Amino acid sequence: MPVTPSVLPSKQLLNGADSFRCILPLPPRNDTETRIEEAWQLPFPEGVDFEGQRFLLPEGCCVRAAAQWLELSLLSVMLSLSFKAVAPCARCMKETTLAISDDLMYLYYSCGLELGKDTELASDDGFMPVEIEFFGRTLDVAPQVWESLLLLLPSKVLCREDCAGLCPRCGADLNEGPCSCKGEELDPRFEVLRQFSPEES
Ligand SMILES: [Zn+2]
Ligand SMILES: [Zn+2]
Repeated sequence: MPVTPSVLPSKQLLNGADSFRCILPLPPRNDTETRIEEAWQLPFPEGVDFEGQRFLLPEGCCVRAAAQWLELSLLSVMLSLSFKAVAPCARCMKETTLAISDDLMYLYYSCGLELGKDTELASDDGFMPVEIEFFGRTLDVAPQVWESLLLLLPSKVLCREDCAGLCPRCGADLNEGPCSCKGEELDPRFEVLRQFSPEES
């Protein structure tokens, strides 16, 4: 079974990953026993734009990486990301803080290695493959850190699963109970709000 290709377009990858570096020292070649770990605290002072939504990362993003050779030209890198993302709830607009923490597995291989033919990981689709030209003594994993960050952000922020949202007529927060505007004339001042009220999916 082929490994899962990266799901994000490379343009989106480059935009963010250009602004930082995550240089990971690699274990000696031929040494499949040693696992080298490194950690970074990335600031992201302007937050992160993803799918039309600006997420603020007030505490930045904590990244831990662990690299280990599986074969001569096949390197596994586990990235562990942990961060708080702040964005408005898609239904009620309330500022919502999400605590996000997860691991992503990458498999770096150098050009020429046919992934899947003679590797034991051919059947493991939990790894995301990254083809690189050649391996040096270090590896900049910033593009994959950036990709992981975007993959872990939700496409829709909700303050809670069953958020009732805002009344499209009066703008009242329906999480605080039903509003009293049923059957009344639509207040023209809230017509604008109604138009921008998020569609339920
Ligand atoms: Zn909400
Ligand atoms: Zn109402």
